[in-house]
Amino acid sequence: MLAAYACDPAQSQGRRFTESDAPTRNAFQRDRDRIVHSTAFRRLVYKTQVFLNHEGDLFRTRLTHSLEVAQLGRSLARALGLHEDLVEAIALAHDLGHTPFGHAGQDALNDCMAPYGGFEHNLQSLRVVDGLEERYPQFDGLNLCFETREGILKHCSVRNAQMLEALEPGGVGARFLRHGQPSLEAQLCNLADEMAYNAHDIDDGVRSGLITLEQLQDVPLFEHYRQQVQAEFSQLTGRRLLYESIRRMLSDQVYDVLHSSQAALQHHAPASVNDVRTLPPLVQFSADMKAQSTALKTFLLHQLYRHPQVLQTTEWAKQVVHELFAAYLDQPQAMPDSHAQRDNLPRAVADYIAGMTDRFASREHARLTGKTAPL
Ligand code: MG
Repeated sequence: MLAAYACDPAQSQGRRFTESDAPTRNAFQRDRDRIVHSTAFRRLVYKTQVFLNHEGDLFRTRLTHSLEVAQLGRSLARALGLHEDLVEAIALAHDLGHTPFGHAGQDALNDCMAPYGGFEHNLQSLRVVDGLEERYPQFDGLNLCFETREGILKHCSVRNAQMLEALEPGGVGARFLRHGQPSLEAQLCNLADEMAYNAHDIDDGVRSGLITLEQLQDVPLFEHYRQQVQAEFSQLTGRRLLYESIRRMLSDQVYDVLHSSQAALQHHAPASVNDVRTLPPLVQFSADMKAQSTALKTFLLHQLYRHPQVLQTTEWAKQVVHELFAAYLDQPQAMPDSHAQRDNLPRAVADYIAGMTDRFASREHARLTGKTAPL
């Protein structure tokens, strides 16, 4: 049951290159399938989310993170009458532009590209689906629908939005210039992303031993559920206590988003997705849940993402990206011809590095500099 304010594939604003409809699949379903078959999607399995890929087999990677976002997104979409296939397509593609080595890699590449227009992973995800994937005879990229591309471009600087607007007037850059919102499916994916990483980073953080359940007592959102679980199951410890507390936290966040979004939708009563684009954000946490989620994010920032052990590996990752960037600028022929022969060499280098998995970047770095990772 698709709501009036949902994106309807039959009313899509279309693809950049016109294609005939598929006989059995709707346009968003087709986008989702194209994303799953892309090279960039397969690489997500070897890209760091928080923990470097080789640090353990059980930690989230960009791929499993994206699958969790898609799962949360789909169940919320179904309950809100939004288009599930579109939500899934956006969720599976939202991190395609991420560099190797997580945020450290993105920061380092942005530093390297500062004189050449910078590097931003949301824009890079769009570059992947719009141009960098080479799969089809008639066009570069995956030729996805406007609605999918709109959702992928979660944030965008004014400068980049102006650049996009010049290439595609009234396209995916326009809303950042007129301060509009994207579709509800896109708004939902943003929130599902935040819910997914908050929950799984607690899980990975505790199982890695970098944060403890004792430390988490300072996070009211998590502590509330841990106490609730222990009141019910007094003998429960370890993983099952952790998993059940996280499960309840996620579940309550889902219902919180559902109730507050339903209330906002009722209040504003958008009659179409175009109404949605001119209204304030409607898919949202309640004020209380938003504050609690922010407190959890702050905790994870200080206790996990800036943990000395994490910072040690991120310092090395930054060095790898900086030295790879310098090496390819110096000897473009060390890249494949498709990149070495492009007109804008710094952007070609950034595209090449951004596409790498953690381990390919490490191998290339060792090959070009003779250096290997310190323990
Ligand atoms: Mg994400």
